[in-house]
Amino acid sequence: MNRPDKRQADELRKVSFQPGIAPNASGSVLCSFGDTRVICSATIEDDVPRWMKHQGVKGGWLTAEYSMLPYSTLDRKQRDSTRGKVDGRSMEIQRLIGRALRSTIDLKALGQRTIWVDCDVLQADGGTRTTSITGATVAIGIALADLLEQGKLKALPVKKLVSAVSCGVYLDTPILDLNYVEDRDASVDCNIVMTEDLDFVELQVSGEEATFSDSELNNMLSLAKKAISEIVTLQKKAIIEGSKKTFSSLPDFSTQGGKIEL
Ligand code: UDP
Repeated sequence: MNRPDKRQADELRKVSFQPGIAPNASGSVLCSFGDTRVICSATIEDDVPRWMKHQGVKGGWLTAEYSMLPYSTLDRKQRDSTRGKVDGRSMEIQRLIGRALRSTIDLKALGQRTIWVDCDVLQADGGTRTTSITGATVAIGIALADLLEQGKLKALPVKKLVSAVSCGVYLDTPILDLNYVEDRDASVDCNIVMTEDLDFVELQVSGEEATFSDSELNNMLSLAKKAISEIVTLQKKAIIEGSKKTFSSLPDFSTQGGKIEL
């Protein structure tokens, strides 16, 4: 296998989390997959959208926004505010992030609160949407641990952690975690979002002017499953580290669905 950065087909880029990157958010982390770096934050507001109040929907809400900073790309990307319209790609990605995160949060147990998730790409080198989902999960974990510590929640309303990674078919070979050059030249592009138990949350697979076989798809899914297990371990460590920075004693991470423990 001849990847531009000499990785094996099943090798992740270096995945890292730097919690507390945005101190004014309820929870934040700088999530990196190699040179792709995304600032992910979660801000919790004690209110819910008007439509929920009008329709008498109980519990809370989670919404996500995604954007690429102008200097995150090789050629400067104009801000939406300067262009005067929202980028369609960003809109699609922020919906994906919101759906993915809502699937594993117990919105009823969250109470009448809204979690605002912001994913701002600092440096883009492929896989910004999957990096955003993976990092946002950590930011939310830290933010909710804060509420727990303050006694505003009885338990963490996190059913499962959610994690994401990209795969693709490059030079006729299924590979994991594509960088920009690989993404550009891949014949198949695949984004996989899963829970820590390896249940699917969302699967986006598309042949770019190409088709793909059953076996290529299965190969990509196997690559992703192995990687997600590795990433989830790092996410848990980051949530615990991020919470330790904020609190003298570590909050009780017991959740209804599972436990955030290593
Ligand atoms: N990209 C870019 N400018 C853009 C959109 C994308 O430079 O306006 C680059 C960036 O490196 C990004 C990659 O193309 O990570 C792949 O973009 P894609 O739309 O497939 O989303 P991603 O892989 O980032 O989730």
